Amino acid sequence: MLWGAVVGDIIGSRFEFDNYKSRNFVLFGEDCRFTDDTVLTAAVADALVICRRDPGRELSAETVQALRRWCASYPGRGYGDRFLRWVRQDSLEPYGSWGNGASMRVSPCAWAASSLQQAQDLARTVTVVTHNHPQAVHGAQAVASAIFLARSGFSKDRIRSYIETNYYCLDFSLDAIRPYYGFSSSTQGSVPQALEAFFEGVDYNDTIRGAVSIGGDSDTIACIAGSVAEAHYGVPQEDVEIARRFLDAPIIGAIERFEQVFGSPRLRQPS
Ligand SMILES: [Mg+2]
Repeated sequence: MLWGAVVGDIIGSRFEFDNYKSRNFVLFGEDCRFTDDTVLTAAVADALVICRRDPGRELSAETVQALRRWCASYPGRGYGDRFLRWVRQDSLEPYGSWGNGASMRVSPCAWAASSLQQAQDLARTVTVVTHNHPQAVHGAQAVASAIFLARSGFSKDRIRSYIETNYYCLDFSLDAIRPYYGFSSSTQGSVPQALEAFFEGVDYNDTIRGAVSIGGDSDTIACIAGSVAEAHYGVPQEDVEIARRFLDAPIIGAIERFEQVFGSPRLRQPS
């Protein structure tokens, strides 16, 4: 639960500013690191755990505090400039972002939810505290929906059909866009591509390879694609063991606490 996003972030991290347009690369290198995608996924997970343990708390307010707390604890992890300004300002108002930062941190919502509607509602709540632009909400809900449907046992064909009907037209292949696709931190310019990487992948690692292979915002595309792939395939134990070496105790602790509180990784099979 969350390892899919974190492992994707770590593998993609060394390609964000040095794109590698091929599927053939060594998954983990010495220059891998965890980035803002991992830190802020841990923050959202933390807020969900706090609210589950104390139902009197409000998720929106806890998300604001958790995002600010975790960002302050992990400086220099590649946050966007406007996000950093929001973290440092006194005002709690959102800043209208349409960036992919909401989609990269949303995966815990899909694991905490017990229905598709709840996954989408939680995704909106943790998104609009900063990314209150319709495109950012749309992307975060698309990712949360894909994860929720995958962990519920729906086939990739059915998930694709749900996403294409409700969220994005995926009328392209990774091979077709690879020659010209470039960096975009917008939701519209990176979330559909990450979802396509999931739909084309044949297992977790292949999904990450596809996500990195188009270039662009590689850590975030791999994080998002990985978060969905985990719900369908699981994450290879070997990847998790290697990823742990790049993390520290508070982040591993947040992932493990989330797993303890939200329990079973898979729901029943769909009827
Ligand atoms: Mg990042």
